[in-house]
Amino acid sequence: MTYRFITYELLDDATIARITLNRPDKRNAQNRGMLVELDQAFCTAEADDGVRVVILAGAGHDFSAGHDLGSAEHRAERNPGPDQHPAYQSRGGTLAGSERRYHQEWHYYLESTRRWRKLRKVTVAQVQGNVISAGLMLMWACDLVVAAESAAFADLVGVRLGMAGVEYFAHPWEFGPRKAKELLLTGGTLSAAEARQIGMVNTVVPDAELTESTLALARRIAALPTATSLFVKDSVNQAVDAMGFGASLDASFSIHQLNHAYWAEISGGKTHVGTAEFGLDVWAPPGDRKDSSVAATDEKRS
Ligand code: ZN
Repeated sequence: MTYRFITYELLDDATIARITLNRPDKRNAQNRGMLVELDQAFCTAEADDGVRVVILAGAGHDFSAGHDLGSAEHRAERNPGPDQHPAYQSRGGTLAGSERRYHQEWHYYLESTRRWRKLRKVTVAQVQGNVISAGLMLMWACDLVVAAESAAFADLVGVRLGMAGVEYFAHPWEFGPRKAKELLLTGGTLSAAEARQIGMVNTVVPDAELTESTLALARRIAALPTATSLFVKDSVNQAVDAMGFGASLDASFSIHQLNHAYWAEISGGKTHVGTAEFGLDVWAPPGDRKDSSVAATDEKRS
């Protein structure tokens, strides 16, 4: 299969698959084409009985800046025309208003992320630079996380878009309840060292060693019997689900949709997220922003 927005490699006698987000000039902002390809790549790895571990990486300086709503590629694939992505004409894409948004976000943001979390392979996220908003969703869906020292984590949609986090609301589980509130209400950033301290990432390594360290971890897991590694994954995931993780995702997604509908209602349908006019931080274009260590995206919505 030919991919445009990601790469797919088989390593170590095809026992390890490495998927790499490949829009480094856009800080790996996630356009619809990328998300559809990512799902195809995960499903390809899942269908391949020879693959034992899947690595999810990002090319360039940043792992991922979040969802893309600003690039020319994104506009072309969203708007009606010859370059429109077929994903905008199905799964609720032809419906209207809140119903359209609900179905589209459910399929392409919530359920896809949940499917990747449950992949029948052990997955390892390899992250560096900015991991912002929907970038967190991809990372959190993975079983293990290896972070470079440069990694910085934040969900900025609260302070900049007036949204209560992204569609896959794992924040309380990953940050802890109190830290989740702080980060969402202030737009604050978590460093790699802090992320390790709270258990959100497994290990932190120098940037120059990130690729090799991730591969070493993947190799160690790939050496286990596949039944063992999958049963470990499922045991932990099912324990977390029994504590209410899955139900909390559904509940928070409903609030997320209410949040979009609120902005659509009070803006008279002009926007489905908050803007500076309502007292939120200005979402400056990349390069114009003073806090460039945190800012990371050319997109404008959660
Ligand atoms: Zn949304």
